[in-house]
Amino acid sequence: MAAAKLKYKRLLLKLSGEALMGNQAYGIDMTVADRLANDVAEATAAGAEIAIVIGGGNIFRGLSAAAKGMDRATADYMGMLATVMNALAFQNALDHRNVPARVLSAIPMQTICESYVRPKALSYLSKPQVVLFAAGTGNPFFTTDTAAVLRAIEMNCDAVIKATQVDGVYSADPKKDPSATRYDRLSYSEVLAKNLKVMDGAAIALARDNGLPLIVVSIEEPGNLLKTLRGEARQTIIEGPG
Ligand code: UDP
Repeated sequence: MAAAKLKYKRLLLKLSGEALMGNQAYGIDMTVADRLANDVAEATAAGAEIAIVIGGGNIFRGLSAAAKGMDRATADYMGMLATVMNALAFQNALDHRNVPARVLSAIPMQTICESYVRPKALSYLSKPQVVLFAAGTGNPFFTTDTAAVLRAIEMNCDAVIKATQVDGVYSADPKKDPSATRYDRLSYSEVLAKNLKVMDGAAIALARDNGLPLIVVSIEEPGNLLKTLRGEARQTIIEGPG
């Protein structure tokens, strides 16, 4: 069976909102969403069970609005609504590839999508259907990175794949600093101690406390999701004790 060749069977893919933006300054580039949907289609065809959390930074970020004077909790609720738009767009892209996918929102909006209920999400994943978790954790003052780790633990995922524009975690931003070096492996405490910009501290601590591996890979290269599932991608893995 194809699934037997996979190193990871059930994965949560975390895409930032900006991943859907492509070269635009704002919003969703459906050609980029289509390319990413193709990667997910390949992974499901190989027997993987895929859950997805998409951020909202391409549309609205609570912290930025709060910096301009908006009440932070209100701004965060707006940010969570942005993630629902992204999830619907990505579900549509998956639909074009005949990949069955469900959007489950942490904030009930019954005429738009289903609400998040853990047993329902688990049953969709094992069908298998792709599950898109929308509206983050449903709470202000959190990020979609934390939502990704939380849902991955709840769904018994083997790992979280954090998709970025570079092939792992570097000591500094490799696009700005040519002397930056890439790590193959890091412990959770190293990420926190070195203050590496991978995910926010709450997400890293939650992953550490529950022994959930975090894999940082590039999604710029088509086909990289399947390679990651097979353990063949160039990546940084964050796991284990220091
Ligand atoms: N957000 C929130 N609670 C959550 C997840 C997200 O309040 O559990 C809000 C927050 O305002 C955040 C916005 O949604 O700025 C978009 O999410 P995020 O910044 O994580 O998106 P990304 O950077 O991944 O695109």
